Order: sequence, then C-alpha cells, then structure tokens
Amino acid sequence: MLLREASFPGLEHIYYFFQLIQTPFILKNLKIAIQKSGRLNEKSVQLLKNCGLDFENYKSSLITTVSNFNLEILFLRDDDIPGYVEQGIADLGIVGENVIDETQSNVTYLQRLGFGKCTLKLGIPKDSPIERLEDLNGKSIATSYPNILTEFLKEYKIDAQIRTISGSVEIAPGLGLSDAICDIVSTGGTLKSNGLKPFIDVRSSEAILIGRQNLQENPVLCELLQRIQSVLRAKETKYLVLNVERKNLAEITELLHGVKSPTIVPLADEGWVAVHTVISEDDFWDKINTLKSAGAQGIVVMPVEKIIL
Ligand code: ATP
Ligand code: ZN
Repeated sequence: MLLREASFPGLEHIYYFFQLIQTPFILKNLKIAIQKSGRLNEKSVQLLKNCGLDFENYKSSLITTVSNFNLEILFLRDDDIPGYVEQGIADLGIVGENVIDETQSNVTYLQRLGFGKCTLKLGIPKDSPIERLEDLNGKSIATSYPNILTEFLKEYKIDAQIRTISGSVEIAPGLGLSDAICDIVSTGGTLKSNGLKPFIDVRSSEAILIGRQNLQENPVLCELLQRIQSVLRAKETKYLVLNVERKNLAEITELLHGVKSPTIVPLADEGWVAVHTVISEDDFWDKINTLKSAGAQGIVVMPVEKIIL
C-alpha cells in the first residue's frame, strides 16, 4: 500500500496539482455592498451598469451576481454597509461619508464618487437667540449622528447635551426636545418647513467606494476601479465639435485644453475647419461663450460615455 502511494500519484494529487497551477488564473468573486433602497441606490446601480456590469436589479433579493464580471452585489441598509466591509463579509461598499464617520468603521477609502452630496448641519429655530457657536454651551442638540457631533463639539470645546433620536430630528425643537438640531441638509427645505434655519456646517459628505483592509492588490478591484474612474472622468467631460475660420484657429486652440491637442478636420469650404475636442464640465457656459466670442460657430456638444487613459 505504502509502495503504491509512493510510486503512483493518486487522483487527489493530480487534482491538487491542477488546482495549484490554475490558482493564479482563477479570480475570486468580490462582493460589493450597495444601498438596497434610498437616496444612494439608483446612482450606485447606475454607476455599476455604466462600468459595463450586467446584472439583474431585483428589488426583492439581497444578493445578485454580475454575469460578466467577478462580482456579487449585496443590497443592504446604508447604515450596515461600513460594518459589513470592515468585517470582510463584503469586500467593497458604496456609502455616504456621513455613515462611515458615524459608524467609526475601519475601512479604506478607494474612490470619491461625486454623488449623494449633502451637508451635516446644525440648525436652530428661526427666532432662536443663538448667534454664535459658543452660544450652544449648556444647550441641547437633537441628532441621529451623535458620534460625529461629539467629535465636532469636542473640537470647538462646546459643552452641549446631545439628544440622540433616530429620525425626524427636525421636529425636536418644536416639541421642546432640544434647542438645536444636527442633521443632513441638502436644499434646506425640510429645515424651513419646520420653522428652522441653517446655523453652522458640521461636515460635508458624498458617496464613497470603500474597501476592506488589505484589498488593494486584488486584480478584480484594479479592473473595477479603472472602469469606475473612466466613467467618472467622462461624466465631468463633454465632447465638442465647432466650426472655425482658419484665421481664428490659433486663438481657438489656445482656448481649448482637451485630453490632448484638438483634432482639426478641413471643411468643404477651404477657409474653414471643424475642431473636435473634449472639455471639462467646470464653467461650461463661460467656456462656450469665450469660444463664441473668439469666432467659433455651429458648436455641437455631446455626452462622453467613458474616457480610458
Ligand atoms: P436606509 O434605509 O438604507 O437606512 P436612510 O433612510 O438611512 O436609508 P437615505 O435617506 O436613503 O438613508 O440617505 C442615504 C444617504 O444619502 C445619506 O446617508 C447621505 O449620505 C446621502 N444623502 C444625500 N442627500 C441627502 C439628503 N438630502 N438627506 C439625507 N441623506 C442624503
Ligand atoms: Zn440609513
């Protein structure tokens, strides 16, 4: 028996041999946690779809598999996402910075995503005598973000009492529960309709792609990050075609700072060319007006889907 084992490899040895040589080529699925429903759900799903990932977005299921990429998607409440990632149950997550900070999770920031922008603000009643931050000493503040608020008050050495409530924070002053509130504000409409006014910004927030510790070298993550970055770059960019008289071309090309130098295509009319380029979304209308003043005509603006550098 011993002799046979020593001389002829058993099936299990052959299996382990093939497993060994295949290991570098088999990519393990990563798991990404996104919000199941709420303000970040739609944009998170859209971002992943724009990365070319093909999956069913069943509202009723908690997990779905991407058919053309090594990724599974978990649909969770946003408050649970940092904890799942910290514990390694999910490898990646998309969640607001406000939630990451409040849960004090030990996760890695991989990419700012540019959506879900909002600000955690202190708000006070319209007729409140509070004028400066120091006036909050001895006062009470209602919030669903006790940890972030504690840090903020500590930083500014304010001794206020924090009343933690889980929702509808903005009704607390009206009910006599607190002198001020600390809550997420985007337009200020909810504050106003509850007789409150914004007072001081505590922190701003946007959606972040987070990862568990020690994930950076993973090839699936590298590919996903590259795709996400190309989608984000494209979102901030427009493709521009404009007609220019040759005598104005030098000035127009000077004004354009594209990915590389612009493409110049001659038109049927010899005195004219078409200039193709991409421009960033910042100050878009100012740039267009400057180009028009420099002689650009027939300006066509198109969306860009991806920019791969
Ligand atoms: P869940 O059911 O997943 O716990 P939620 O009700 O706690 O959801 P949402 O209101 O869907 O959370 O907000 C999710 C995130 O969207 C917030 O944590 C914040 O990062 C971001 N956000 C952007 N704008 C706003 C806003 N106006 N109010 C609240 N959150 C906002
Ligand atoms: Zn939540």
